[in-house]
Amino acid sequence: MARLLRVGDVHIGYGKVEAVRGVTLDVADNEIVTIIGANGAGKTTLLNAIMGVLPLRGAVSFAGVDLARLEIEDRVAAGLSLVPEGRELFAAMNVEDNLRLGAFRLGTASATQSLERVYTLFPRLKERRRQLTGTLSGGEQQMLAMGRALMGAPKLLMLDEPSLGLAPIIVADIFRTIGELRASGVSVLLVEQNAQAALQVADRAYVMELGEFVLEGPAKDVAGNARVAESYLGF
Ligand code: ATP
Repeated sequence: MARLLRVGDVHIGYGKVEAVRGVTLDVADNEIVTIIGANGAGKTTLLNAIMGVLPLRGAVSFAGVDLARLEIEDRVAAGLSLVPEGRELFAAMNVEDNLRLGAFRLGTASATQSLERVYTLFPRLKERRRQLTGTLSGGEQQMLAMGRALMGAPKLLMLDEPSLGLAPIIVADIFRTIGELRASGVSVLLVEQNAQAALQVADRAYVMELGEFVLEGPAKDVAGNARVAESYLGF
């Protein structure tokens, strides 16, 4: 499988505090990779730096291009997309207008095609297309945030805690959709505290503690690791 994202020995700091210390990670085409770890381990910091929201030290390349030289909008154009933990939707706009914002780079015909793709993935959004975003349930808002990120037809979707605050039945729905994304040719880099759900859907996993990866491997092996089971799966 071709490597899509390569992160090599990356360090990220807030002033003098190093929140991420020398991590190396890769994501291949058609792969779901998860980073699990406790609160404050540095997962969000890493996603933000890959997107270009935070500066980093080290090497990051995407589809063979060195990201150091690219601004955020160029990273989006190259096929990277981030759904942040806070979802950052426009509450006073309806569902479809929020989605269309995700396709601002595309022409009208491609935007309409993207919209149909997103509605196929999330039929609930189609039903609610004229509803004000602020009145959606938490699960619907998460679907909308993912849908908006998919409107630009990314090659890699980075998801920060998609399950946060959602009921288990909705979490199952979101994770099923993540599996469907891989089938449609989108790779996923998933940051989650819900380790159990993340390890079930992912191909490979990294375990992050205090800014470093302490374990990595096929998701099945990571789930079977005694320390992971005790610390993150509650066994
Ligand atoms: P969470 O699930 O809580 O978001 P996380 O694994 O994503 O956890 P980060 O949010 O990346 O962790 O935080 C990593 C470390 O960096 C923590 O020690 C945190 O306190 C610190 N940190 C995060 N944001 C800032 C900031 N803006 N300024 C200073 N320190 C920060």
